[in-house]
Amino acid sequence: MQVAIDTEALIIGAGPIGLFQAFELGLLGVDCHIVEALDRPGGQCTELYPDKPIYDIPGTAYTTAEDFIQQLLAQIKPFGTEIHTGQTVESLTRNDNGDYVATTETGSVFTAKKIFLATGAGAFTPVKLRVDGIEQFNNKQVHYRSLEKQQLAGNNVVIVGDNNTAVHCAIDACDHAKSVVLLHRKRRLDATTESLAVLEQLVANHRIEQIKGKITSYTGNSSLQKIAIQKSTDHTQEYDVDQLIVKLGNSPKQSDLDGWGVATTARHIPVDTAHYQSELPGVFAVGDINIYPAKRKLILCGFHEATLAAFSATASLRPEKPLHLQYTTTSTELQKRLGIT
Ligand SMILES: Cc1cc2nc3c(=O)[nH]c(=O)nc-3n(C[C@H](O)[C@H](O)[C@H](O)COP(=O)(O)OP(=O)(O)OC[C@H]3O[C@@H](n4cnc5c(N)ncnc54)[C@H](O)[C@@H]3O)c2cc1C
Repeated sequence: MQVAIDTEALIIGAGPIGLFQAFELGLLGVDCHIVEALDRPGGQCTELYPDKPIYDIPGTAYTTAEDFIQQLLAQIKPFGTEIHTGQTVESLTRNDNGDYVATTETGSVFTAKKIFLATGAGAFTPVKLRVDGIEQFNNKQVHYRSLEKQQLAGNNVVIVGDNNTAVHCAIDACDHAKSVVLLHRKRRLDATTESLAVLEQLVANHRIEQIKGKITSYTGNSSLQKIAIQKSTDHTQEYDVDQLIVKLGNSPKQSDLDGWGVATTARHIPVDTAHYQSELPGVFAVGDINIYPAKRKLILCGFHEATLAAFSATASLRPEKPLHLQYTTTSTELQKRLGIT
């Protein structure tokens, strides 16, 4: 087990609400870290609809979901909030000091006085490749993340997926790999026009072989050697493979909140609307994961929740210091935290 990272506040989930939670805590001078299951921040915005327009962010007539997340990241930059990506919090307990201890599946440990659950629709986890027995090669020759160029060098690489990430992965791989196959199930790839144009060129130049089909079986005992790709009902062909990269997208899986001791109702966390705190003292729930009368799963509602939760947590962390409302327009204290003065 690694050395614990000790922080005043830990935010679980780097979706839009988790990111704004970090902003509100930073503004109030509270030190925080964020843990995120995905390998980048953004939650549903970047995972489910990055190129789609959002029209109902106050003061912003129009933004794409991707740009919106970039703006939220820019907003928290002055606080230097660390975002620990690619890590899913698996358990939440309390230590003898009464602090919360969050542990991730990769063995990272965080201790915090306050927890902010911004877990939204759940931890986004990769959709698994369904070929009997192939999971024995996971993290050795079957990967759900992109590989470094030295892991690709001189290898026969097969990338499975229909999306933009899969196309990008194939394009990036062909500069280093011995051979690259992009294997997809759908007739049309779900990728940007720019990526498709680059892919078309690389396919025309025989640098990438693009195949519509599915893996039906593999050969190899101690190591993966070949895969059988079914191209049509009566045609299956074997391909050499050294590295198999799976990019079938991510689907959300809700954490075991009950196991963490956080009470839930219909898989959501009931909160009071003054503090947005769960029944567990010091554990707040903001954004899509919480529930209260008239709850609406909208980003702007989550922003309000994060603001009041930050005030409540800060008042409890610093009981000796009255927490006055200050404006960013006029407060030198806030502007100092924002690095403006
Ligand atoms: C297609 C679509 C269009 C939408 N359009 C709009 C719109 O126009 N306006 C609007 O207001 N809303 C819109 N929404 C809703 C909006 O996206 C959600 O309300 C918002 O994303 C909720 O943010 P969140 O931060 O609470 O949760 P999420 O965005 O779900 O983010 C939660 C994050 O927490 C991470 N996580 C969860 N559990 C763990 C764990 N145990 N450990 C580590 N990380 C974890 C997840 O991986 C995820 O990244 C839309 C939603 C969809 C699907």
